Amino acid sequence: MAQSLRCTGCVPPGFVVIEATDAGLAVQITVRSTAAFSPCPVCGGHSFRVHSQYQRLLLDLPLAGRNVHLHLQARRFHCDVPTCRRRIFAERFDPDVLKPWAQRTARLDDVVHHLGLALGGRPAGQLARHLMVPITKDTPLRTMRRHGRPAFLPPSAIGIDDWAWRRNQRYGTLICDLDRHRTIALLPNREPASAEEWLLDQPQIAIVARDRSGAYAQAASNALPHAVRVADRWHLMENASHAFLDAVHKPMRQIRAAIGAATVDPALLTAAERIQYEGYLRREETNGAILALAKEGVAIKEIVRRTVNRHGIRTPYRG
Ligand SMILES: [Zn+2]
Repeated sequence: MAQSLRCTGCVPPGFVVIEATDAGLAVQITVRSTAAFSPCPVCGGHSFRVHSQYQRLLLDLPLAGRNVHLHLQARRFHCDVPTCRRRIFAERFDPDVLKPWAQRTARLDDVVHHLGLALGGRPAGQLARHLMVPITKDTPLRTMRRHGRPAFLPPSAIGIDDWAWRRNQRYGTLICDLDRHRTIALLPNREPASAEEWLLDQPQIAIVARDRSGAYAQAASNALPHAVRVADRWHLMENASHAFLDAVHKPMRQIRAAIGAATVDPALLTAAERIQYEGYLRREETNGAILALAKEGVAIKEIVRRTVNRHGIRTPYRG
């Protein structure tokens, strides 16, 4: 038996139509969720206690050749679970219907994704506009990237360190999943507050490997007081290397004499060590020249005149 088409049958499942108005080229449909509760995004507990309401504007599949604008009356809920750190949260919906922060329903997003896969970025954007799907030319590419991105798996052991946008000027924070050997987050700065905010959303983390500086240590101890904090292998090696060089730097002359090495073979050095070694040789040569001139009784001003070039760089005196 034929049934008449109900307006609620046109909107995504789980929503009920409050009002539908004809706005010329678009249809505006005001909807709300049929659910009496919403799960807390942090603890997963169901909350029935509504805090307030707000409106989300969404695009949905076109209807009879016209754009569909959904005005969703969403709610904020209290989380009453005593152990949960989130007190108020925005209403969550079935992710197959509407994802958090999405501006399009999942079914429209799926259409954009498949258009992008079939036609590529810009042709898909052009065809979408003919199909009454108002998106920009970059939307199909962004949608494909988002769909192609592997799902975020909550890490249990992470490494955290800074990385340079521009060396000595601007730094961000890099977070790696140590079990999966994968970078999982890039934060725009290296402020402890930013790292702490990210860590707060990952209470399952049991191990934090970090550098020896206090900033990330403080962030990790505030956000994850139960987690084990360890120095990572790279920083341990770097610290050991610094300690070793400090220990051998001062008695280097005696060490060379003891092992009978009067000269260093540059072929055995790394590029950075070779530059350092060449600088050392230049300094030794200049010092020798200065001492020889001083022994001859040349005045200090004259020694400076002979050994410093016009750029203020001390150069070996060659007589
Ligand atoms: Zn909660």
